[in-house]
Amino acid sequence: MNLRLIECRKRSRKVLRKGGGFFHLLFYLFFPFFLLSCHKPSESSKEKEGPSNVIVVVIDTARYDHFSFMGYMRDTTPNIDFIAANSVIVERVYSHSNWTVPSVASILSSLYPSEHGAGVGERGKMRWLGIKDKSRQPLEEVVLATEYFKKYGYSSLFFSANPYLNKNFAPATDFHFSKRVSARKLTDLAIDAVDKVEQPFFLYIQYMDPHHPLEPPQEFVKLFAIDDAKKYAGWRFGEIFNFADQEFIEYKSNKIKLYDATLRYVDSEIRRLFLFLRSKIADNFIFLITTDHGEEFWDHVDLQWRWKDDPRNIYGIGHGHTMFEELVRSVIVIGGKGINRRNVNCIVSHIDIMPTLAAILNLPKVGRWRGANFLEEGFCEKKELVFIESPAYGPDSVAVVDKSLFKFILRGEDKRLLFNLKTDPKEKKDVSSIHPGIVDLLQEMLKEILSSVSGGGKGKVLEIDDDLKKELEVLGYL
Ligand SMILES: [Zn+2]
Repeated sequence: MNLRLIECRKRSRKVLRKGGGFFHLLFYLFFPFFLLSCHKPSESSKEKEGPSNVIVVVIDTARYDHFSFMGYMRDTTPNIDFIAANSVIVERVYSHSNWTVPSVASILSSLYPSEHGAGVGERGKMRWLGIKDKSRQPLEEVVLATEYFKKYGYSSLFFSANPYLNKNFAPATDFHFSKRVSARKLTDLAIDAVDKVEQPFFLYIQYMDPHHPLEPPQEFVKLFAIDDAKKYAGWRFGEIFNFADQEFIEYKSNKIKLYDATLRYVDSEIRRLFLFLRSKIADNFIFLITTDHGEEFWDHVDLQWRWKDDPRNIYGIGHGHTMFEELVRSVIVIGGKGINRRNVNCIVSHIDIMPTLAAILNLPKVGRWRGANFLEEGFCEKKELVFIESPAYGPDSVAVVDKSLFKFILRGEDKRLLFNLKTDPKEKKDVSSIHPGIVDLLQEMLKEILSSVSGGGKGKVLEIDDDLKKELEVLGYL
């Protein structure tokens, strides 16, 4: 038995020891994944198999700190945890914006929002998506993932339960779908389509269930013991209220439980999708799981009350309105054929996804890509900072996080905030007055990035027909 196989068996035993009954069951259900990571195909079998298929799974509105493998208190993602136990885990990932449109276009293009043009507004102007600002599409010259993979001989499929991600986010696809549907329906559609296409294929699938309104199936509502779930599907307490209000306390607790239930639901559908893929294409695929942005549950409501600068007069809930970690931090789990289990322990951002997938597949880089392969040796030394921009609501805001984990936020023209994420991961203490030198340095870096992305342009305004209008209204975007 070779060393790799011994190491792998050890890992399998460890998972079994750690998990007890439920993990035991999962182990057998997911046993193919262990084989997948243990088995190293010979060069000749690789040739026979052809290039790997690629699956990118994005969970809309999923907070980085609500995944159970990130240490969350509820068992929200047992299947993703299990997949992660055999994959590369990146715990500190940043989205380039705090809402879907600019964030996803960065995943798909390896460019900053100001460069791909999707979801961007006027620099320095107040934002109010759906009322004063129209959502914008990616610029036509930008190469997006579906087109890229198609160019290199892949069938390409794009399934989004977020209706914003229309055909302009997925040029050259063999299958495109963008409509709010449940995780179950979306998985069914994707499975049907994958069954029909030629290999190799690129599948992008974006689940939407953790996005308001929260309507998971009853079995998941029961799992987290939520009474009268309908009461918590929509948002309340977005205005100024009393923290000690018993009704608020009860609402918050149940709202978060219901949100967690949607995550657990998506997790179960990801398992179904992966088991199908295993049966269809054995171990010939690589996959990546991430989120587009997070969700706030009154984490920074006190600051927002003090600022009172959101034109909607809504504070502390949802997303699109601040640059705090609960909205812009994400995670990545990447694994499959030829990828060994490890952690990447530095800052990674969504622009690094396309260059990493391309490097694994030995495909060429697109000249304009901003990101780099985060699995490559030396990546962590080179990645200096991440840049976040283009909010949906409130004053125009930008942020940078540098490799020493200081985060600088510029909100509007005059609000400058600095957080030390190492010692204060929940961003409770603004230390800008204690470290003026770091503020100056990060402001300088920000200025450099802003000047390098200026002139990227804005994409075309999204045309909204009656059907889309209805869908966006339900999601709270209009
Ligand atoms: Zn989103």
